[in-house]
Amino acid sequence: MAESDNTLMEKIVSLCKRRGFVYPGSEIYGGLAGIYDFGPRGVELLNNLKAAWWRANVYDKENHFGLDSGMFKNPRVWEASGHTSGFSDPLAECRKCNARIRVDKELGKIGVTADEKMSEQALNELFDAHRAKIACPNCGKKDFTPVRAFNLLVKTNLGDFTSEGSEPVYLPGEACQGIYLDYKNIVDSMQPKIPFGIVQIGKAFRNEISPRNFLFRLRELEQADTQFFIKPHQNKEAYEKIKQDRWNWYLSIGIREENLRWKQHENLVFYAKDAWDIEYNFPSLGFDELEGIHDRTDYDLSQHMKFSGVDLQYVDQESGEKFIPWILETSVGLSRMFLAVISDAYYEDELGGGTRVVLRFHPRLAPVKAAVFPLLKNKPELVAKAREVYLALKKDIPQIMWDDNGNVGKRYRRQDEIGTPWCITIDFDTLGETPDLKDTVTLRDRDTGQQERVAISDLKARIQDSLAQ
Ligand code: ATP
Repeated sequence: MAESDNTLMEKIVSLCKRRGFVYPGSEIYGGLAGIYDFGPRGVELLNNLKAAWWRANVYDKENHFGLDSGMFKNPRVWEASGHTSGFSDPLAECRKCNARIRVDKELGKIGVTADEKMSEQALNELFDAHRAKIACPNCGKKDFTPVRAFNLLVKTNLGDFTSEGSEPVYLPGEACQGIYLDYKNIVDSMQPKIPFGIVQIGKAFRNEISPRNFLFRLRELEQADTQFFIKPHQNKEAYEKIKQDRWNWYLSIGIREENLRWKQHENLVFYAKDAWDIEYNFPSLGFDELEGIHDRTDYDLSQHMKFSGVDLQYVDQESGEKFIPWILETSVGLSRMFLAVISDAYYEDELGGGTRVVLRFHPRLAPVKAAVFPLLKNKPELVAKAREVYLALKKDIPQIMWDDNGNVGKRYRRQDEIGTPWCITIDFDTLGETPDLKDTVTLRDRDTGQQERVAISDLKARIQDSLAQ
C-alpha cells in the first residue's frame, strides 16, 4: 500500500467533509461505524450519478423497465435466496485487541483464495495452514480465535412477524431480490418480449464485520442493479455485450481507463456460469471491486418458484415455448461509485502561481454546474445585475450557485474544490463601462482557469451544450 495513496484518501475524506459532500453518520453522538450522510454537495453528485446510470440503463435501452420495490420483504424471500443460511462472512477475532478480521480478505492479501461456499471447518483448516503469515491489521499480533461464519443480514422488527416464535424480518441484504419478486407483475402488466431488463436502485444493509475505507465498505448502502432476462442458454453473447456496455459507461462519465480493470471470479457458486468484477484503483486500497457482473442461469427465479409455489415461467407468445428465464446481472454500490468518481476527479495542480485542489468532474456529474458572482458585493448595481443573470439561468439549469463571499480568487478556489465547471463574473463592463462589452460576462473554465468574454444571452446554451455531451 503506497503511503501517498493513504494521504490521498485522507485528503478526500477531509475535502468531502469540509465542502459538504459526506459527513460521518450520527457524528455529534460519536458516530456509527459504517454509516455516512451525504451533505448538500454529495447528494447532488449522488443524484447526478443515479440519473446518469438510470438514463443509460432504462431510457437509452429498449425493453428495460424501472422498479422501486418495498424494502421490507416476506422473510421467506431471504430463505429462498439463500441469505439466511449462506450470506455470511468468515470472521476471526484477534485474541489481543479483539479486532475482527475477514478471513477471506486477509487470505486473499497473501494470495490464498477462500471459496465463497466453503464450510466453516474447511475455512478453519485453510486459515490454520496460513495463520503464521497473517497479522492483525490493528495490533500486529498473529493470534486469532477460530473462524466462524458471521451472517450479514440485519434483523428488524415489523408488525406481526415479530411475535414470539416467528421468523425475524430482515432489511434487504441486496437490492435485486425486489426485482425477482416483481418479475411476474412486470411480465403480466408490461408484456415484455424476451430478452428484457428490470432495473432498480435500492438500499441494502449488511452487518459488515469491519466497515472501513470511507465509502467503500458500509453497513447501509445503495445498489444500482440491472437484471437482464434471457432465453435459457442464450447467455454468452449477451453477457459479453453487457460487460462491454458497463465498462464503456464508466468511461462515458469520465473515469480514467487506467484506473479500471477486469477481474474474473475464480470460484463460482455452483449455479453461476461466469462472474466478473470491474475493479477500480481506489486510494489506499488499490484495485478492488466496484461492480459485479454475473451470469446467474435460472437459479434466482427457480428458487422463488420453489419457495413461493408460484409459476414463474415465461411463455413466449410467438413460439409458445415455456421456460424459466436465465438472468444476467449487474450490481454496483453507489457509494463505491461515488468514491471512485471523486478519487478520479481529484487533482492538485498549479494555477496562477499557486497550488489548488480541483475536482475535475464530468460537467454532467458536477454538483454545481456554474457559480455566478458579482465582482464586488458592495456595489448594488453589480449585485442586481448578477442576481438577474443567476435567477434567469437557474430557471433552466437548477444546479446553479450564487457566491459573493470573499474576493473572486477565493471564490474560484472554493468552486474548484467542489468541481464547478464554470464561474460567471458580472463586472463593470457587464453594466456598459466598456460599451462594446455591455451585457457580457467573464466565463472562467475550471480545468484551464482561462477566462473569456461571453454574451449573457449565450450562457445558457454554452452550459447546456456541455452538459449534453
Ligand atoms: P465485497 O466482496 O466487497 O464484500 P460483494 O461481492 O459482497 O462485495 P455484491 O454482493 O456482489 O458485493 O454486491 C454488489 C455491489 O454492491 C458490489 O460490487 C459493491 O459495489 C457494492 N457493495 C457490496 N457490499 C458493499 C458495502 N458493504 N459497502 C458498499 N458497497 C458495497
